[in-house]
Amino acid sequence: MFHEYNYTVADRFLNYVKIDTQSDPDSTSYPSTARQKDLSRLLVEELLEMGVSDAHLDEYGYVYATIPATTDKTVPVICFCSHVDTSPDCSGKDVKPIVHRNFNGENIVLPDDPLQVIRPEEHPYLKNKIGEDIITASGTTLLGADDKAGIAVIMDMANFLITHPELKHGAIRILFTPDEEIGRGVDKADIKKLGADFGYTLDAGELGVFEDETFSADSVTITIHGISAHPGYAKNKMVNAMRVAAMVINSLPKDSFSPETTEEREGFVHPVRLSGNVETAIIEFIIRDFHTTKIAQYERYLKEKLQEALTYYKGATAEFLVKEQYRNMKEVLDQFPPVTAYAQEAIERSGISVIASSARGGTDGSRLSFMGLPCPNLFTGEMAFHGKHEYVSIQDMQKSVETIVRLAMIWEERS
Ligand SMILES: [Zn+2]
Repeated sequence: MFHEYNYTVADRFLNYVKIDTQSDPDSTSYPSTARQKDLSRLLVEELLEMGVSDAHLDEYGYVYATIPATTDKTVPVICFCSHVDTSPDCSGKDVKPIVHRNFNGENIVLPDDPLQVIRPEEHPYLKNKIGEDIITASGTTLLGADDKAGIAVIMDMANFLITHPELKHGAIRILFTPDEEIGRGVDKADIKKLGADFGYTLDAGELGVFEDETFSADSVTITIHGISAHPGYAKNKMVNAMRVAAMVINSLPKDSFSPETTEEREGFVHPVRLSGNVETAIIEFIIRDFHTTKIAQYERYLKEKLQEALTYYKGATAEFLVKEQYRNMKEVLDQFPPVTAYAQEAIERSGISVIASSARGGTDGSRLSFMGLPCPNLFTGEMAFHGKHEYVSIQDMQKSVETIVRLAMIWEERS
């Protein structure tokens, strides 16, 4: 089916990464940066050219499009989704992608900053990629494979299906989101308008990876109120909010419970920001675990530690504010077994072994799943993201295209 096909995924990718789409956590607009729409507009143009006639960009920076069904059967509507923005952690301006054809397994020195070297020793996945074509940035920027690999894969899937109308599939929706990297990827997504039954994000790494599980996540903000006084005359009057904050953080275990001491299925309580003066101190935490019930346990524990500090520093008071961020998508996906089963079958039909894994983080899909669109995450080949050593294999992206085409067909077969 794919022997004769001239994949367009690499050419598209090389084009998309040159457009700066960095998002900005300090912005309050939607999308957070207008430049994200530069790519979104191009995607709409390309979709229209292909004949995807309802492709359009909305005011918030979302692209919606539909590949019409080619079957008479009633088939669930499947959505493929990826994000146009790149991480605020590393510059995405003037990205100069380089294709390393027939990769020989040696260190890749990035020409614009020879200190930037991608070493297979540090990136063991590269050892499986010898003979493939690897794309990197040039040393001064990220590449943007996260998630322009996903975008290019979906665009090539659309191109493949449009040019192969003999293949049977139901209606396929496409959704390109802005601002995923700053946690606002689905804030303004219109799920009703999208009208899909099930979705898949294309935003995971290694060939064959299938993620149907993410962390559950809350944030906790503790605001501590002390009592200020002239330091020269403060005896038995002053209560220093910063000391209370320090005691709370110091009371957390040193050898467990934190991102730096946990892996795999372990959760954590992580102070991410501390600010303050004598009168007021604020600690912001993120709380993560695969089990939502454990999140509440961690919060009770943190509250106890706060209470102990307040008991010690008499006169200090505090507020403890919990905000839900996202939930483990598996809680939803377990209710819809075909979503996972068909994806795994599509990977296998593409000649790849499935690597079922859990994301120690969230995806657009974790929130979409709870908004009514069950939505696991599929591989694209994007690796070492958010930094200058980011890379992607062209062959991995092609396999990703093949996988989602087969996935669309499996949904039709089984309906
Ligand atoms: Zn991503």
